[in-house]
Amino acid sequence: MNNQEFRKNAHQLVDWMADYFENIEQHPVKSQVVPRQVYDSLPNELPLKGESFADIFKDFEEKIIPGMTHWQHPSFFAYFPANGSFPSLLAEMLMSALGAQCMIWETSPAAAELEEKMMHWLKQLMGIPMHFEGVIQDTASTATLCAILTAREYYTDYQINIRGFRAEKFTIYCSEHTHSSIDKAVKIAGVGSAHLRKVAVDDTFALRPESLESLIQQDIAQGYTPLCAIAAVGTTSSTAVDPVQAMGTICKKYNVWLHVDAAYVGTATMLPEKRWTIDGLEMADSYVFNPHKWMFTNFDCTAYFVKSKEALIRTFEIMPEYLKTKSDGQKINNYRDWGVPLGRRFRALKLWFVMRSFGVEGLQQKIRGHIQLAQDLTEIIKQREDFEILAPVEFNLICFRYSPANTSEETLNQINAQILHAINDSGKAYLTHTKLNGRYTLRLVIGQTNVTKKHVEAVWALILAEVAKIQTASLV
Ligand SMILES: *Cc1c(COP(=O)(O)O)cnc(C)c1O
Repeated sequence: MNNQEFRKNAHQLVDWMADYFENIEQHPVKSQVVPRQVYDSLPNELPLKGESFADIFKDFEEKIIPGMTHWQHPSFFAYFPANGSFPSLLAEMLMSALGAQCMIWETSPAAAELEEKMMHWLKQLMGIPMHFEGVIQDTASTATLCAILTAREYYTDYQINIRGFRAEKFTIYCSEHTHSSIDKAVKIAGVGSAHLRKVAVDDTFALRPESLESLIQQDIAQGYTPLCAIAAVGTTSSTAVDPVQAMGTICKKYNVWLHVDAAYVGTATMLPEKRWTIDGLEMADSYVFNPHKWMFTNFDCTAYFVKSKEALIRTFEIMPEYLKTKSDGQKINNYRDWGVPLGRRFRALKLWFVMRSFGVEGLQQKIRGHIQLAQDLTEIIKQREDFEILAPVEFNLICFRYSPANTSEETLNQINAQILHAINDSGKAYLTHTKLNGRYTLRLVIGQTNVTKKHVEAVWALILAEVAKIQTASLV
């Protein structure tokens, strides 16, 4: 492909993208393909001779698109969103064109300095303590792994990095509702899943600080060294908020690292009325939230903040001869030393485009709008005697179920799963589920970039239509 052909194809693709967003609601939200359908539709033979872009693109439309779930569809109510937006998409296009590998300051000074500035902006926007320092990571899972590794090194005077584990017996604490990335990080960091303590929660599914303290005391009595506790600000199941302040006090008392995982809900702290969720954050050692979830910044972009950048850098720093540069030692950041990968994409560009294009007020208005839509639907659900809200709706995730009277728990689990699958198979909306206190719970997240009242009303109508079918079939 030469430059002239690139120009022609690229113009065509931009038109395709604009059409895609204009007509996105004509696609089923959740891909309807069966396992192996996409794989089997592609040839096993290598393309020996180069093919025309027209042929490649035709296959993209015919074979790939049907196998895609449309995360940017406004009726995507599943998991947590991975929101895109036009400014972010444009930045991604430029990033790809530049194709820069931004591992150190010298390999693209603008990428390093824009990243530093964006982290400064995010601290102001989100109410993150100004003495923290930030770095962009690929995902919250990586950031949490960095937190546990840094805690491990900090408390062993950076010795495990050198000599490996000896007789250390560390323990780590989180509630049973925290994200699976913590279980994963505990395995990778060498602490061992057997040493991850799941702390009990209260009836809002938030961690009980007194249970944390007694587990820490028990472990100390048995010769363990409590290493790190993780507070979830917005659990994945139900957006429950663990008490950061109370956990911070306990962590200080026992000299334990406090990591705060606000991957999804962190975006809401741009609203003064939601700031309370990170009260006490100055007591934490590290904090993560994902602009790539609710802040209109295409996946991937995770913002990771630490109290001590020295501890972070000492944990990850490497300095082979071929990476030494004449700017080392000056007031610059070589972000390769702030996390696991050496190579880094220029993700700061997306944040810059998004924050300038929406403006603080534009961002706040959208986030507030999503929360309002969720509150409104919650009121409607609460008025129904045959439905139940199963967790507090503090943000924009509603946990609920259809629960007609005199129905066994087993039947309720089964009919709610049936409602979920019927809606997802219709392609008209997509929601997912969780289990709360053993109950099959429908999760509806109203947070897609372009979701409106109309889409919320439509998904509620779909749910009621499924309920009507169940009633007609006299299943209950
Ligand atoms: C989504 C989520 C994660 C994982 O995020 P990734 O960026 O996909 O690794 C971690 N913690 C919480 C609370 C989440 O909601």
